[in-house]
Amino acid sequence: METADPRERTYHDLVVADVLTLLHTDADDGLAPEEAARRLEVYGPNQLPRPHTTGPVLRFLRQMHSPLVYVLIAAGVVTFLLGEYVDASVIAGVVVVNAILGFIQESKAESALDALRSMVRTEARVVRGGSVRTVSSEDLAPGDLVLVEAGDKVPADLRLVQGTELRADESALTGESLPVDKADSLLPSDTVVADRRNMLYSGTLITSGTGSGITVATGAATQLGEIHRLIGSADTMATPLTRKLASFSAWLTAIILGLAALTFVVGVLRGEPAADMFVAVVALAVGAIPEGLPAAVAITLAIGVSRMAKRHAVIRRLPAVETLGGATVICSDKTGTLTENRMTVQTLWTSTQEVPVEGPVEGPVGHGTGQPAGAVAAHPETLVDEALRWTLVAGATCNESRLGEDGVGIGDPTETAMLVVAQRFGITPHAMPRTGSVPFTSERQYMATVNTDPATGQQVLLVKGGVERVLARCAAQMGSDGTSRPLEEDAVHAAAERLAAGGMRVLATAIAFDPGPDALEDLAAGRGHGLVLTGLQAMMDPPRDTARTSVRTCRDAGLQVKMITGDHATTAQSIARQVGILGDGAPAGVLTGSELERIADEDLPDAVERTSVFARVSPDQKLRLVGALQARHHVVAMTGDGVNDAPALKQADIGIAMGVVGTEAAKDAADMVLVDDEFATIQAAVEEGRGVFDNLTKFIVWTLPTNLGEGLVILVAILLGTSLPILPTQILWINMTTAVALGLMLAWEPKEAGIMDRPPRDPRQPLLTRPMVWRTALVSALLVVGSWWVFQYERDAGSSLEASRTAAVNLFVTVEAFYLFICRSLTGASWKVGLFTNKWLLVGVTVQAIGQLALTYVPAMNTLFQTAPLGWESWLRILGVAVLVTLVVSLDKRRSILAARSAGRRADRQSDRRSVGSSAG
Ligand code: ADP
Ligand code: MG
Repeated sequence: METADPRERTYHDLVVADVLTLLHTDADDGLAPEEAARRLEVYGPNQLPRPHTTGPVLRFLRQMHSPLVYVLIAAGVVTFLLGEYVDASVIAGVVVVNAILGFIQESKAESALDALRSMVRTEARVVRGGSVRTVSSEDLAPGDLVLVEAGDKVPADLRLVQGTELRADESALTGESLPVDKADSLLPSDTVVADRRNMLYSGTLITSGTGSGITVATGAATQLGEIHRLIGSADTMATPLTRKLASFSAWLTAIILGLAALTFVVGVLRGEPAADMFVAVVALAVGAIPEGLPAAVAITLAIGVSRMAKRHAVIRRLPAVETLGGATVICSDKTGTLTENRMTVQTLWTSTQEVPVEGPVEGPVGHGTGQPAGAVAAHPETLVDEALRWTLVAGATCNESRLGEDGVGIGDPTETAMLVVAQRFGITPHAMPRTGSVPFTSERQYMATVNTDPATGQQVLLVKGGVERVLARCAAQMGSDGTSRPLEEDAVHAAAERLAAGGMRVLATAIAFDPGPDALEDLAAGRGHGLVLTGLQAMMDPPRDTARTSVRTCRDAGLQVKMITGDHATTAQSIARQVGILGDGAPAGVLTGSELERIADEDLPDAVERTSVFARVSPDQKLRLVGALQARHHVVAMTGDGVNDAPALKQADIGIAMGVVGTEAAKDAADMVLVDDEFATIQAAVEEGRGVFDNLTKFIVWTLPTNLGEGLVILVAILLGTSLPILPTQILWINMTTAVALGLMLAWEPKEAGIMDRPPRDPRQPLLTRPMVWRTALVSALLVVGSWWVFQYERDAGSSLEASRTAAVNLFVTVEAFYLFICRSLTGASWKVGLFTNKWLLVGVTVQAIGQLALTYVPAMNTLFQTAPLGWESWLRILGVAVLVTLVVSLDKRRSILAARSAGRRADRQSDRRSVGSSAG
């Protein structure tokens, strides 16, 4: 049927009617479902091709792009030129194995990230065969009629059919940071993408308004697809820690090379043959360089990502894994995160009466699921009160949500609660045709519509929203007979305050009969304050069961928990108290958005630090809050769901978007998405993040002494002018096998007990802390002494040079295996972790042991690595030294734990004294 590929032309230079003809579709009914399915077959799913711009060969070679590997390659080449073919091939083998490892782990990490991407699917609302349905954006085909609204991510390239107040943020595509107005029009052919006002482009975000458009390009054919082809994937696996590590190992390599050169010169000056010296310094270099570090870091992070996913936290940017563990403040939304977002109207208030809404019927659960509302008229007799009737009518008419056939709420829980309560009083929602509206936004905190009353044919302006906002626009209040009375502002405020004190969300409703034609504009512009207040609706949104314990856990872990909400201060305060954000020694302050406005920038950090609840806050103020906390060196986790939360989510160290109620815009800006919107998930993610960072630290603490020890052994041998106790190829054997079989297994360590009982890590803390440096020095010194003693003992006993070296190599590996168990716990006694809590570790140790036996007894290995079989007494000596080293290191660890504890107590006492002093002063 199609004559040419519809994707190969432009559409901004066509009128909508022509677009419809070209694409054989309809502006009202969209495509027929079967036709959409057929086109999907033809054009393929609407998804970008996998972002692998580099082929496997290049990706393999890229693994070798590191200073460490360069050193290895150079050493291999020179060794080869010197005629040491066995050594050269072992080095080559190591380089290849290293690259394979890197390759595998990179692919694994990428597929983990891919899997996560598919967990946060973009959905699209599409009209097919005349009815609206929600589909995954991958199922869009050219010709599909798509509906968009504020917060959506545009799912494909669309030619606009219609738009109302429509604006799009196209920065992802054009770099233009200000939202662009969008409307149907006819544009000249040569209009550049950035100026095509009648098009919406895939991957851009709708910042306001609503609209519909015809899909003209999908998948790789979109403008976004074009860009992807050009630049490839910008997603990197780099995190602050990997960057720190990269610079650390570059720095380490430089030092080691310098040291090697110096050693070479010293040796040659002493008259050693240059070739021998070269082999020796190569051993020094490869021994001292921690080859396994990058792979271990990447794998540990990838494991962290999947552990978090299991606990409903989807990581969108890898750095968040480690940043999370260092979070010091969590700023959480109230509605939906700390509460269930299941609103039920409990009380109706008018100037003459207060009506409790009784009965077992629950309000609908947020977003589509929930119990039927039971459309019985609960108290129809009360509706002789006109003010009460209009309060209910306004709530059920000035409303964007609806109740499904089974009475289940579809839309905003605040609004569905109002529909349910109206229905219970016998009022049919949405019974009055609408002629205009001002949509609800978190900034405005109210919504207004103009409707025609079918009973009288009269126009009415209906408003609902936050009590202060609505009241500020009222001039009178309605009596029970429907007449206007003077507004008793204080009484209304008092009633609202009283209801809010019970933790209820209170909304006011107001009306104006026969409003002028400009009423909505005037209202939005803050003009025309002639509304009549009809009454209040107070609704309950119970705190989540898990919220209280999770808040407690976070606070025990030294994190501040702050609530940020658009709700009224009293409501927020009451809920905050219920979930434990207020009370129990938390900073007690409550600040409102308007109070925040008045605080100067330089005073803000102090004020924010002192405050736990921020009420009536608009999204742009969140950005200021994040900034103030960061000025205090806090690591800030911030939640958000709306379009306007995006800047704050980007600015926060960890931006957290709601998976259920969140807009695409928020998810796009976030580092992490909560699958279930629960606060408990944030706490779980922090916990996992700490675990990841711990495991990385464990690996570093384990690997550095090994490397330093190996380097030192060689250095000492060269300086003393004796034969090397360990050969370069043997060092490579040790490094490669132990890194994989032993060290890597630390990535699967379970979280230590008490991980949420200690304070967060200081973000300014260096990679290597002082205790870590000390530990490295101690263990490497013991390794040097131990291996020398074993080596020398064998020599003195008349063993061959090969056998003596084999003993030294086995000593190294045995000590590392023992030391591995010490590294399983950073802060406590290792035996408390439990021997069988990480079965991979036991597997690794077994594999390593088999490897050592092969190295010692298999003839081929003896040739390749210049080793020789050992007698059982040699093994006894090796085990003896290993046990001794383990004892010494364990005792030292115990000493440092005790020292840290008493330092901690001292700090506690000091801060107690300080806080006592300040509260007295
Ligand atoms: P929260 O941080 O609790 O999600 P919101 O920004 O959703 O806060 O709402 C802020 C205030 O705006 C509410 O306290 C209520 O007074 C008002 N409000 C909320 N939803 C609506 C709505 N759909 N229509 C009108 N007003 C609303
Ligand atoms: Mg909300």
